[in-house]
Amino acid sequence: MSVLSFDECAVILTLVFLIAYIMRRQYLNGRTNRIMVTIVFLIFLSSLADLGFGAIDVYGYPAPWLRVVYYAVNYLYFVSRNIIPPLFVLYLYSSIDIWHVFVSTKVRNALWFAPFAVSMAVLLLNGFVFDVFSVTEECKYVRGPFLSVLYLISAVYGIWGIVVTIKYRKLLNKDKFAVLIFMYAIIFSGMFIQMFHPKLLIESFCMALALLFFMVMVKREEDQIDPMTGATKYNVGIERITRNFISRKPVSLIFVKIVNHSNIRVYLGQTKFVEFLRSITAALNSVSREKGFTSEIYYFERGLFAYLGDRSDEELLAQISEAAREALTRPFNIDGFLVMPDVRLCVTDCPDEIEDLRTLYSLALTFHNTMPNNREVQFYRDFCNDNDFKIRNDMNAILSRALENNGFQMYYQPIYSTVENRFVAAEALIRLKDRYYGNISPALFIPMAEKSGAIHDIGDYVIKTVLKFISDLDMEELGLYYIELNLSASQCIEVDLVERIQSFIEDHGIRPENVGLELTETAADINPEIVDNNIRKLHDYGVRIALDDFGTGYSNVRRVTTLPIDQVKMDKSFVDMVDDPQMWIVIQDTIGMLREMGKEVLVEGIEEERVARMFTDINTDLIQGCELIQGFYFCKPVPKDEFVEFIRKHRQASEADEQNNM
Ligand code: C2E
Ligand code: MG
Ligand code: MG
Repeated sequence: MSVLSFDECAVILTLVFLIAYIMRRQYLNGRTNRIMVTIVFLIFLSSLADLGFGAIDVYGYPAPWLRVVYYAVNYLYFVSRNIIPPLFVLYLYSSIDIWHVFVSTKVRNALWFAPFAVSMAVLLLNGFVFDVFSVTEECKYVRGPFLSVLYLISAVYGIWGIVVTIKYRKLLNKDKFAVLIFMYAIIFSGMFIQMFHPKLLIESFCMALALLFFMVMVKREEDQIDPMTGATKYNVGIERITRNFISRKPVSLIFVKIVNHSNIRVYLGQTKFVEFLRSITAALNSVSREKGFTSEIYYFERGLFAYLGDRSDEELLAQISEAAREALTRPFNIDGFLVMPDVRLCVTDCPDEIEDLRTLYSLALTFHNTMPNNREVQFYRDFCNDNDFKIRNDMNAILSRALENNGFQMYYQPIYSTVENRFVAAEALIRLKDRYYGNISPALFIPMAEKSGAIHDIGDYVIKTVLKFISDLDMEELGLYYIELNLSASQCIEVDLVERIQSFIEDHGIRPENVGLELTETAADINPEIVDNNIRKLHDYGVRIALDDFGTGYSNVRRVTTLPIDQVKMDKSFVDMVDDPQMWIVIQDTIGMLREMGKEVLVEGIEEERVARMFTDINTDLIQGCELIQGFYFCKPVPKDEFVEFIRKHRQASEADEQNNM
């Protein structure tokens, strides 16, 4: 095997890398890439030079001009070779996303520069004292006493790199950490072998090998882009934001919310909607380019985009947000269809304003859910005083406090039968009173408990409390048929849901038909087979099943036909539309349709006598009156004793009425 083959391989490898970089135009793409391309170029140069003087050494013949070439090639080798280690340290800081740590102190900069300066000084002095190397008149290469200083300096940078890698390993995923450690092993072995076997010229080859390994293992930037939306992938975004919090890298975030995204999706259909998302990403990208805002764009969900960029001042951020709003608030032509996004923007800085991921998450959620009417760009401080935001931010603590200290309570809202002209049932609704925040609406904490998993403990509490209440009540005496409780979507897929409810019903000697379970449409959407299986078992056992919030989700009629549903609860949004004559026709026909399907219909959210009367007086070919009504008009949800008192009083009153009428 020729001694040149290692260097030849190194030249070929680095040349391939360089061509790949140039073809992918990666040298244009951010600091990290630029440093990497420079490193590859330097390895290419040094291995070419290495190859050059190796060739001269083997095939050379003594001639004065060749001696000059020999010196030049050696210098090229040593200079390029000695710029690589300090550059590699810079590469690490940049690629781990801790550049701000590197530039934060002048001492660190000086410490980084000093060994490099020494190496260059040693090389410069070589011209006078031949301390590193010299070339004899016979054109033979001779090592100088200071050559080892250069190796020592490389080792210093190598150790620096290892320390940084280990110190910030939390910011690296496991693969990248392992790749870096392996790279060090290859490079150090190369240096070590070269020191003792200089003729082998293996060092550059080892560097190229390490690079090859690195390139194969580390994800390319393009892999991090979601081809559907054109934005950086969701998980990459979450990972990057988490890393920024760990490394305290100052960044600015601009949330961009397309408020009418679900309408747009309905109009366009899924395929064109994805195209629409891509157009939004492209528009946001061109704004950041125009404004010189170095940033990445993420698409989270439900119309929420975010810019994550270098920390910028408030004025610039306001300008970028304004420009983004302008760029998005215009008709977008998606494959021949025009849609107009309605956007809201919110700006914040991390970690200056928002110190941890949890707070950022609460901000995103608050911004996401409140759908602010205010079209002005909002800043974090606009949310700080918002009570909902504070509660969301502290939700985990609030929920565990409530679970530990009996902070929950069940209220009951009577359900009125227009057929029997009396109250025949009730819905159990959870209430939460916190020591610091007071009463918190279930509409706020139930969705968060669903996300955090606390819903299972809360659901347990609801089932136990309500079933215990039913067993304590004399349902017959009060004239009540059943009490309904709300099941959350994720409870519907609990493996032991059926057994737990059954054993509780049996232990307390309750009749299953006294118990009603309300499911929402989304519950059935998550995992239809499992939900269907659980619900069917409970229904067969005798428990009543109601479909809640009918009219707010998708494909609800299908739900009604596929699940064993006894009762459909029409959402308050129907009630809000009774004064629209066209909608009133739709409402009456919907009730008629459900009744024809054999379902009991309940209308929720009735607040006025006039509206209650509209429903009781319905008189069409299909229906006379709506059977069940629930709403503040009759009674708000009240604590159990008040509820019993209310029902008792009404029962006595209606019995007295009946006697009077006889
Ligand atoms: P939901 O199951 O649709 O409950 C009806 C909601 O409408 C209740 O709000 C009730 O207080 C309110 N409501 C009743 N009549 C009227 C009215 O005439 N006008 C108006 N404006 N509102 C009326 P609440 O208690 O705040 O509960 C909100 C939602 O939180 C519930 O909607 C349900 O989805 C969820 N939730 C409540 N309790 C529980 C529970 O114990 N478990 C689960 N998983 N979810 C619950
Ligand atoms: Mg309900
Ligand atoms: Mg409802």
